[in-house]
Amino acid sequence: MKKIALLIMLVSSLASAQLPYTNRPDLVRPLLDEFRKEALERGVEVKERLAAIDSIMIVEQPENRNGKPSLAGYEADGITWTRGQDIWIELKRSKMEENDGSRLRLFLHELGHAMGLDDCCLCHYNIMRCQASDRANFLFRDEDLARIYLDAFFEAIRNPKKWNDGHTHY
Ligand SMILES: [Zn+2]
Repeated sequence: MKKIALLIMLVSSLASAQLPYTNRPDLVRPLLDEFRKEALERGVEVKERLAAIDSIMIVEQPENRNGKPSLAGYEADGITWTRGQDIWIELKRSKMEENDGSRLRLFLHELGHAMGLDDCCLCHYNIMRCQASDRANFLFRDEDLARIYLDAFFEAIRNPKKWNDGHTHY
């Protein structure tokens, strides 16, 4: 009987570990659902890697690695921290409460890091582009273009090493 109780506890703790903790489920849950749906449509497995993210927190201003709000004059809209097995994400509240194409792009960009993708500063429109771009955000609002960007993004997530080792910049 004791064994069964332990087993049930283990199963329920695994089940609750599926989704990262967030202080703003109203903003984060729908975006996570969208991410999982887009991944599933392309046959990319992300469940396990999502479960490895401890938290996705909406904050006033994510701090850079030096503990300051800006790095080389740039304020970060999002930061993904990794320390050993731990991964956590901080997203800027003002960006996450906007809905002009930048919210989903920012969210996906940081999840991309959590999935193992590096920034790329040579790409213009790719979701893993290192800096936010108004034009990229604008184009991302077009359904057909968004699909193309999402295809490239999930292809990178399917094989992060291939993306990190080198890719065609666009
Ligand atoms: Zn690139």
